Amino acid sequence: MLWLVMGIKCRLVKKVGTRATLRTYWGSGECPNAYGNGSKGIHNAHILLAENDISDDNKIGGAISDHPIEKWPTKCDNCPAVVPEDKKVHRQIFRRRIYSTESGELGPGDMYWIDYTYGGKHDCWMHTTCDGMHLHVRLPNNRTWDIDSQASNCTKKKDKVHRCWIRTGTPPNVTITKGKKGDDTCAAGAGSIKAGDYHGFLKNGRFEP
Ligand SMILES: [Zn+2]
Ligand SMILES: [Zn+2]
Ligand SMILES: [Zn+2]
Repeated sequence: MLWLVMGIKCRLVKKVGTRATLRTYWGSGECPNAYGNGSKGIHNAHILLAENDISDDNKIGGAISDHPIEKWPTKCDNCPAVVPEDKKVHRQIFRRRIYSTESGELGPGDMYWIDYTYGGKHDCWMHTTCDGMHLHVRLPNNRTWDIDSQASNCTKKKDKVHRCWIRTGTPPNVTITKGKKGDDTCAAGAGSIKAGDYHGFLKNGRFEP
């Protein structure tokens, strides 16, 4: 893949709206191609309902009861299975953020802020010294990395002050290091990020490798 050779350059994106779909899912472990990734899981289907330019709109699309049964998906998006009539089927109004990208979805290298205070309503639950804004980025394998969160192998899990990764630079031109003497960090991370099948570094806004 190209990113192995060049590294992926990050870009800063932002929330621009909300998208609502009618979502139907059923049959735990029955779909041979769950979420389109070739492994077993639930059958799942969406029909686009509405979009707007309000970020984090938790009302868009209304309530489940607003939408008659014939409007909902009738088959799985990821395999030929049809929605059964004799089994438990889950339906929900599914709301997702739209980002300032071509598709509205996030992809590798997309960097964005998440507000852990929900607009000042709470403190960040991870830290006592935090303005609540955590920088997130999609890794080359499209996993999400909350750069300002606690690493899964943090060696000071009860400490809510230190940062496992030390971040410098202005987004998207961010560099992550293990820190220098005097930085309040822990032994996790060591400046690299490992998630799923990706393990690499973020330097001046570019993933290496
Ligand atoms: Zn399926
Ligand atoms: Zn925080
Ligand atoms: Zn830590």
